[in-house]
Amino acid sequence: MSTYRVAIVGAGPAGYFSAQALQGLSNDDMAFKVDLFEKLPTPWGLVRSGVAPDHPKIKSASKVFEKISDDPNFRLFAHVEVGNDISLDSLKDAYDAVILAVGTPIGKKLGIPGEDLPNCWSSAEFVPWYNGHPEFANLQVDLTGKRAVVIGAGNVAMDVARILTISSKELERTDIANHALEVLRKSEIKEVWICARRGAEFASFTAPELRELPEMSNASVIISPKDIDSAKSRIDQDSDRHIRTNLDVMERISQFPITEGERVLRFHFSCKPIEIKGNRRVESVVFDTNQGKIEVEADIVVSAIGYQPDEILGLSIEGNHLRNVEGYLGDNAYVVGWAKRGPSGVIGSNKSDAGDVVRSVVQRLIKSIPKDDLLRKRLVEKLTYINLDGWRTINRHEINLGLESGRPRVKLTQVEEINDLLGRNA
Ligand code: NAP
Repeated sequence: MSTYRVAIVGAGPAGYFSAQALQGLSNDDMAFKVDLFEKLPTPWGLVRSGVAPDHPKIKSASKVFEKISDDPNFRLFAHVEVGNDISLDSLKDAYDAVILAVGTPIGKKLGIPGEDLPNCWSSAEFVPWYNGHPEFANLQVDLTGKRAVVIGAGNVAMDVARILTISSKELERTDIANHALEVLRKSEIKEVWICARRGAEFASFTAPELRELPEMSNASVIISPKDIDSAKSRIDQDSDRHIRTNLDVMERISQFPITEGERVLRFHFSCKPIEIKGNRRVESVVFDTNQGKIEVEADIVVSAIGYQPDEILGLSIEGNHLRNVEGYLGDNAYVVGWAKRGPSGVIGSNKSDAGDVVRSVVQRLIKSIPKDDLLRKRLVEKLTYINLDGWRTINRHEINLGLESGRPRVKLTQVEEINDLLGRNA
């Protein structure tokens, strides 16, 4: 029996599904010891800090992650940042294979003037803020104005727009971060605009997410029937089923009566942002439209236009992912998930993607002799980290806090709170 040691970097869906694929390929001849490294004190990646709080079903993937963690050959090293606390090269030296599942955490820039004004956020900041990611917990989000403009026509833009629109009563039943709930409770926002730079036929929303919008009890969703008619006139019979379904759903929404509500969520198509204006903070956005340039007042802007990888590991970036050949990075290193293919697909898409890469990891490993375990032992004994027991303590604590207030959990959002709970000095 050969036992190979594999380090996985990043405890999000792609990391867990890679561990699961390795567990599935273990047999009488081959076993895999998996060490999962995570820079945050808590695992689950986008399931914890990306998925919208009002989408609890999507978060149930965490049950699968917990099952994967139960395997005796699995260890968690949370609060260890590869590239900072430990180098990628040292992992490559100590482990038979290293799989990077580091995602694409940097928000793509609009590249227009005014983007850096206060109260103009990227979804890469705004989403982890409302989801309690410790690095974004102290963002000074200001919702005292009347209009929010969300730029982008994908599901992240839709999540952001929905969170800004739905009533705080609905949010109170979710695991949204307490600091965000407080700000959203006092929100003065009356109108949320989703602004797409191209026509409705190019929107990358998915139909289930569109269909749930009219369920918001406090808001009207407004789509102009003209926008949908003209989009329909531009596509032909053979166009993608996804496009036709999306347009049908948007058409249905466009026919809904506008009701008196606390808020309005309005879709605007074919408006390309060209400038964000303001003195001390965001005041307006200038769009290039079919009718020429228009300037609209905006009190907060969130751009949700895609993501890019972090440069921390010093690896080559190609477009919106790390340069790789079907997940292979060279030497004994691999990449999976959004860092491999760019920010696309749902949580489950990472399962088949990780499975493919892990099969090629194993094909290379079988031809090699496992490394001496002493290397790995020496490397990890120097680290301070949160292990599975520590994470389980955090998890139980958050769920118990949630039980007291009728919520799925109340997240600990400050590293100090987590350290106090675990009695750590770090
Ligand atoms: P996305 O689906 O790729 O959408 C990005 C949007 O940004 C597109 O509408 C794009 O427009 C627009 N955009 C890009 N550059 C722009 C610019 N410079 N100015 C204006 N608009 C610009 O990405 P995403 O919304 O970040 O989502 C990432 C992935 O996560 C997607 O696969 C998504 O489905 C998934 N996701 C799923 C869920 C769910 O299942 N509930 C929730 C959230 C995210 P163009 O088309 O014109 O380039």
